[in-house]
Amino acid sequence: MTSESSTAAMGIETGGETRVTARTAELTANLTTLTERIDAACRVAGREPDTVRLLPVTKFFPASDIEILYGLGRREFGESREQEASEKVAQLRHLAHVRWEFIGRLQRNKAKHVARWANAVYSVDSDRLATALDTAVTAALEAGDRATPLRVLLQVSLDADPTRGGVAPDDLPALAERIEESASLQLAGLMAIPPLGTDPAAEFARLADLHGRLLAAHPQARELSAGMSNDLEAAIAHGSTCVRVGTALMGARPITSP
Ligand SMILES: *Cc1c(COP(=O)(O)O)cnc(C)c1O
Repeated sequence: MTSESSTAAMGIETGGETRVTARTAELTANLTTLTERIDAACRVAGREPDTVRLLPVTKFFPASDIEILYGLGRREFGESREQEASEKVAQLRHLAHVRWEFIGRLQRNKAKHVARWANAVYSVDSDRLATALDTAVTAALEAGDRATPLRVLLQVSLDADPTRGGVAPDDLPALAERIEESASLQLAGLMAIPPLGTDPAAEFARLADLHGRLLAAHPQARELSAGMSNDLEAAIAHGSTCVRVGTALMGARPITSP
């Protein structure tokens, strides 16, 4: 991302090149550190490093940062706020082969937006949301707005607090069946966020157990998305296939986000 054309594409003028170079150096260094953390956690867990995917979480950061990460070879980006994400997707149409992963809470009336650009949604936690996505993705496929089914990860709740999102473990099998009924949705796995104030290792162990049971009934649901900036080692020890990392890669977000 040091060429004049990409700098110009970001619309940055005087002093922009220096700023882009500094940010590129920062993101490069953070990526190196993160890759080392993931590799070390894999060694401790006796796993191959290529069994864990790093999903950069770019919410609250500008499209120019995504262009820099793209220049560093990243092709998948996690976003959690529909409107912000839709705007960035539109701004970055010129980047080929990007996979946008929607990881945040999704309102049903936003399903039709996400259906146009998301490769996957990580936060499906109700029949009603599954139905909204089914309808929206079917329409997007018919309109030629997308070419493939939507990959779906079910978000499971590890506490009893329904306001934090996630399906209760007891309701997981029925929701998985609901996804399987849809030709537009593809059951890809599970996602969870440990409740605040709990021991992440214990929560990830429970999650791994739930994932094992889901896999027994749905062998293609291989993804287990667990682990963020502060707890990715524990998640990798318990079988995570995808760590979602914001802060440790991008820096602190301007405000606390859902
Ligand atoms: C923001 C967010 C992350 C990244 O969290 P960090 O602690 O900044 O790494 C991961 N998953 C979800 C669902 C998020 O909303």
